[in-house]
Formats: sequence, structure tokens, C-alpha cells
Amino acid sequence: MLIILLGPPGAGKGTQAERIVKEKQLAYIATGDMLRNAVKTATALGRKAKQFMDQGQLVPDELVVEIVRERLQDPDCAKGALLDGFPRTVSQAIFLEQVLPTVCSGIDRVFSIEVDEKELIERLTSRRVCSDCGASYHLKFKPPQVRNVCDQCGGDLFQREDDTLETVRERLQVYKNQTEPLVKFYQDKNLLERIDGNLEIDQVYKQIAGIIEKL
Ligand code: AMP
Repeated sequence: MLIILLGPPGAGKGTQAERIVKEKQLAYIATGDMLRNAVKTATALGRKAKQFMDQGQLVPDELVVEIVRERLQDPDCAKGALLDGFPRTVSQAIFLEQVLPTVCSGIDRVFSIEVDEKELIERLTSRRVCSDCGASYHLKFKPPQVRNVCDQCGGDLFQREDDTLETVRERLQVYKNQTEPLVKFYQDKNLLERIDGNLEIDQVYKQIAGIIEKL
């Protein structure tokens, strides 16, 4: 099975992905996490990617498709995978179509998680992330028990450089210009499911899970 989660930054793709991969035993491929990891460990890729990420821009396709190509060859992907944050451009989607026949039978569904812009800005600028385990918090709706300390591992919480207001606005614009065309791209292939991402996490999950059940 191959599932793609599309949606602007802050739509809750990561939150939903966590539940779906657990429930459906799918490999999880999140290019944002992979790139942040490369930046943290200062690999050659990380050094190239950092400047784009900090500014809210997309990392060039040729860098991203390589990490996805490699990741898809890992044994856990044989059972199926969920892609979160990839593809993000039409050319990445075309790359995926070319590489997929060697991995699985094709894309089963693309979920477009749709959320109002005002809500997205609120969610992203209030997000804090644990520097050790990556757990995510929201200052208003899911605050840590102790200010700036992770409930799960005691690590320090920080604001991602790309979650500041100015960069969030840039990321939303980049999404509109470069990623939103994929909604039509997959609609034309009859693969698209629109999901109301303004609802509670559980309700969003129910919409997605109900569709996956029937695949
Ligand atoms: P995310 O965690 O998915 O919001 O991704 C964080 C940042 O990583 C994005 O703003 C981009 O700079 C970069 N990134 C993640 N996935 C991709 C992708 N598929 N193509 C290009 N850049 C990406």
C-alpha cells in the first residue's frame, strides 16, 4: 500500500501520519524529518538544505528525490509506505511515478488535508518541538507541563526556525505556488481525497481511516 499526505504546513500531516503508520504497519517517509536530521548531523546534504529550509523555501528537487529513492529501497518499505511532505512539486510527483514500479504497484490514495490559513498560522507559530525526541507541543492547546521542557523525555523545547511568523507566511505561499498544483494532478488521476483538517485530530483521523479501510 502506498499513501500520500498532501497539505500545507501546519495541516497536521505528521500527527495523522503517526497514527496511520502504526495502525496500518506502513513505513514512514517524512522528507522534512529526514532533511532536519541531515541538518542536525551536518551531512553534505544537510549543509546544502539548511539555507533553503531556514528561509521557508523548498530544497531543490534533485537533492530531495535522491533521499526518497534511497529510502524506498529499505526493506520496511516492501510492506507499504506513507509519504508525508513528498512529493511537493509536480516534478517530484513525476519522479515518484517513474521510480514506484520498482517498489510497489502504485499509489493507492492521496489525502489532501485542508485547513483555513488563519488557523495554520496560529498552529505553526505556537508550535514548540523537543530537541531530543521530536515531540510536538502547542503553546495554547497542548502546552508542556513544565515551561519549555518535554513531558516525554525532559528535553528542551524550541521553536523551529521556520515556524516564525515571517517564514510561516513564506512557506504557505510556497505551498500555494508549488505544491497545491498537485491537488489537481492527483484529482485528474482519480486518486485524491479531500479531508477537512479544521476538525479535531480524532475526527480527521476517522475520515482518513474510513477511506483506507475500504482500499
Ligand atoms: P516539513 O517538516 O514537511 O514542513 O518540511 C520542512 C522543510 O523541509 C520545508 O519547508 C522544505 O524546506 C523542506 N522539505 C521537506 N520536504 C520537501 C520536499 N519534498 N521538497 C523540497 N523541500 C522539502
